[in-house]
Amino acid sequence: MLSDADYLRFGRQLLLPEWGEAGQAALANKRVLILGLGGLGCPAIQYLAGAGVGRLRLVDGDTVSLSNLPRQTLYSPAQVGQGKAQAAKAWVTAHNGRLDVEAIDRMATPAQLPALLKGVDLVLDCTDNLTTRHAINAACYRAGIPLVSGAAVGWQGQLMVIEPGAPDAACFACLSDPADEAQAASCREAGVVGPVVGSVGTLQALLGLKLMLGVAVDNQLHRFDGRQFQWQRFALPKAQDCPVCGGLKEAR
Ligand SMILES: [Zn+2]
Repeated sequence: MLSDADYLRFGRQLLLPEWGEAGQAALANKRVLILGLGGLGCPAIQYLAGAGVGRLRLVDGDTVSLSNLPRQTLYSPAQVGQGKAQAAKAWVTAHNGRLDVEAIDRMATPAQLPALLKGVDLVLDCTDNLTTRHAINAACYRAGIPLVSGAAVGWQGQLMVIEPGAPDAACFACLSDPADEAQAASCREAGVVGPVVGSVGTLQALLGLKLMLGVAVDNQLHRFDGRQFQWQRFALPKAQDCPVCGGLKEAR
């Protein structure tokens, strides 16, 4: 049930036919795991918390540094040196004290992922390296939890939704170019444009909200080039020999 304060606060989104009171009540009961609290995670958290998603599990072992501030919009100069998980939790709590926020101040290793996924309805991969990305994809697929994967480096960003069990839907490991240098390069080495990574993080929140509200999403790979100012989308065929999702459909 929504309170009077909820009607006032969320009035503009309650007006949307796809959203409404039922959608708002559903969001209040969802738990979202956000892995990586950098340039992607910051705007994603702001929009998920803003929308009234009831439970957020925030995971990052890093501390805030001065070089984060151009794009990691949750943090202030006074928080340089603090753990990102606690600093992000402080932002969410100040924004809406009714949300349930867990701050986990360590990096998500493959061994820890099953525990982090417990009780979670949706995962946002906002990490910044390919090895972790693949581990998250595999763990979510195994657990049957939808995943919104985002990445950005230089002027380029990309995102895709991975829905385990959706007919013919590919997963992150189906991408034919895991060694793609554009993906493999890290922001630390190649630089990154703040509004590009911020746009991808914002759109991860949008896709996550759509998934939780039951609004259709596609399973394509979306790439944005901020220098050319162009979006491209690629249909991703399910790789039959994919080590994560290949053959799973037949096995079910
Ligand atoms: Zn796959």
